[in-house]
Amino acid sequence: MNTTQSTAQKVAIVTGASRGIGAAIAQRLAEDGFAIAVNYASSAAEADALVATLQAQGHQAVAIQANVAHSAEVRALFDATEQALGKVDVLVNNAGILKTMPLADTSDELFDQTLAINTRGTFNTLREAARRMNDGGRIVNFSSTALALNLPGYAVYNASKAAVEALTHVFAKELRGRNITVNAVAPGPVATELFLNGKTPEQIQAFSKMPPLERLGQPDDIARVVSFLAGPQAAWVNGQVLRANGGLA
Ligand code: NAP
Repeated sequence: MNTTQSTAQKVAIVTGASRGIGAAIAQRLAEDGFAIAVNYASSAAEADALVATLQAQGHQAVAIQANVAHSAEVRALFDATEQALGKVDVLVNNAGILKTMPLADTSDELFDQTLAINTRGTFNTLREAARRMNDGGRIVNFSSTALALNLPGYAVYNASKAAVEALTHVFAKELRGRNITVNAVAPGPVATELFLNGKTPEQIQAFSKMPPLERLGQPDDIARVVSFLAGPQAAWVNGQVLRANGGLA
């Protein structure tokens, strides 16, 4: 770990940053000058590799394992971040899972897992952030453009993300007086494992043709939006859901 910790350096936690959109966000926010807590649940090797890359570029970063679905692990994530980097200024609630299934075939376990990670995971970090984040901070939650499409198979995933949008709108108001903004990004299809896994090339092609910009999103398309919301230019944007999807919906 880079031990030259500047007292002026702001600190960002990015949940689910071992790969995909989260890894791109970690890279981007590091370039913006944040010290980064790279959270992951099980992909330690990927998280460590990302941290090594960031450190080699001269950024400050640390990998911290925590399953966001468990409140005690989220408390430990904030403890470890504060200890290694300092108090948190930016929280990006990127960790999430997508397993599509017709509602009628969805098991209790899949319903519980989806809500536990996508919704309770966001709740857990928001509650901790309310107690421990620096005033003047930024919170970016993750919804999905899937919510606007109502495609078969997405009922439980969409329910988990609709709840995230609800948390976003209310929490933004509950933080009155702290100068902390709370927004959500709702990406369209982005070329990551979460989206690509289990789809045929024909299905991927069909999704890529849906937006008028006629391509899949790339992780950096979303990282740039998070960078905006986490940065000074978005100071007056609060309680909003920003759909970043090439015009899909
Ligand atoms: P991804 O490539 O599957 O990456 C998911 C990340 O979340 C991984 O780093 C994973 O790490 C971590 N994670 C999973 N469960 C976790 C848990 N319980 N606690 C902590 N970390 C956990 O997914 P992605 O496509 O980048 O998606 C990122 C976010 O964007 C998600 O919220 C997703 O719903 C949203 N989104 C994605 C798309 C898309 O098309 N890709 C579209 C709309 C919205 P481990 O392997 O260590 O668990």
